[in-house]
Amino acid sequence: MIKKVSSLLIGLLLLSLVLGQNDAIKVSASSVEGIPSAYESEITFLTGKSIIQGYPDGHFHGSDEVTREQAATMVGRALDLEGEQRDTKFPDVDENSFASGYIQSAVEAGVIKGYPDGTYQPKSIMTRGEMAYLISNAFNLKATSEVSYHDVKEGSNVATPVNLLTTAGISEGTPEGNFLPDKTITRTEFSLFIARGLNADFKVSQDEEEEEEAQKALSEKVVDADFLNVRQGPGTEHKTVGKLMTGETVSVYKKEGDWRYIQSGNLKGYVHSYYLLDKPKGDWKVALDPGHGGRDPGASANGLIEKEVVLDVGLRVREYVENAGIDTVMTRQTDWYPSLAGRVVLATDNNADAFVSIHANAFMKSATGVETFYYSAGLSDREYASYRLATFINDRLYKEMDMYNRGVKDVGYKVIKDNPLPAVLTEIGFLTNDEDSSKLKTDKYREAAARAIAMGIVDYYNWKE
Ligand SMILES: [Zn+2]
Repeated sequence: MIKKVSSLLIGLLLLSLVLGQNDAIKVSASSVEGIPSAYESEITFLTGKSIIQGYPDGHFHGSDEVTREQAATMVGRALDLEGEQRDTKFPDVDENSFASGYIQSAVEAGVIKGYPDGTYQPKSIMTRGEMAYLISNAFNLKATSEVSYHDVKEGSNVATPVNLLTTAGISEGTPEGNFLPDKTITRTEFSLFIARGLNADFKVSQDEEEEEEAQKALSEKVVDADFLNVRQGPGTEHKTVGKLMTGETVSVYKKEGDWRYIQSGNLKGYVHSYYLLDKPKGDWKVALDPGHGGRDPGASANGLIEKEVVLDVGLRVREYVENAGIDTVMTRQTDWYPSLAGRVVLATDNNADAFVSIHANAFMKSATGVETFYYSAGLSDREYASYRLATFINDRLYKEMDMYNRGVKDVGYKVIKDNPLPAVLTEIGFLTNDEDSSKLKTDKYREAAARAIAMGIVDYYNWKE
């Protein structure tokens, strides 16, 4: 943030000085005329911030040129150099000129240099090549890339600054592949350089396709962590700029070691790759079946009724799964009892491709933990897929619930046996057990169960793909 503000200030100083220094009368931004229509948004951006003002006649005069003393002054102000008028190392700069202090300070800072004959030629017009040198220093540009122009020789004085400006997207050459480093610079060109230096939206690319490619996400991911910190930089030492929740999807744009630069809605920043699952690409649809309902309460113990607990958890699973981009169909969303066969028909009629039934257990007081069932009468694809789905869910469930792992078991319950889909039945703990039931009473553990089941479903589809 500090950086942004200071570069804006730099821009303000630069432009109000160079573009407005001859203005005896201040002209309001809205009355500036003669702005070239091709660059209206860039220049309007600058006038909107009162960075540009017109000449006393109200016109922009975009084709007017910029002198070397104006340029030195603006760079001096940009870098907050000492501007007090004084003697300079150049015999051709009058110490009483408005620019003398900035010229001398800018030379001392290594930002500008004179001609080989020791002069500065303050009234000469700046060339595009000279401006490349100034702007790349003023904005402290460091990154280079493969850049080539017909009229910029490799190893020449302007080659590096021109490369820096091009790489930063601040300047571009002609359609014929020239940069025109010896051409004098106009107010319009100068305004574009500043607008692009200040606002990335105005930047240009050597190759539009390349830029589009660069903006395309590398991959889509699903967050697999309760409250994942999004940071300003790739490391835990960087400030947190936001948080993401389990099941939220993100687009990955850049990899830096174990860190990923992501965007999710308006939130952008770095997250650790450990907490990102692949987002399934297919058009998947899972049937979620909260057990029992209506006239069938299921198990009851310790003040909990199974049909209520599993409906609540099932609706939470739906939210997580749908956030991850997977469609769902619920066999019930309220307190009613669909038959076991009816639940399967509901799933297949709605084109579900997998079936997850959610239950809570009851037995002796001492029995505890989670378990997940699948049914295999043979070695069909459906049965193997059922086994994998059960394993993905159960492996997450016992960890999230912090409960004993009773494992994955092959049992022919009707709803998973008489079912053409890969199907599992998961038991999220024992209502009859004191510890399990005290967990199942809380939002915290109902959320944990839902996350585990949902992320197990994501694991399953990633395995399918
Ligand atoms: Zn049950």
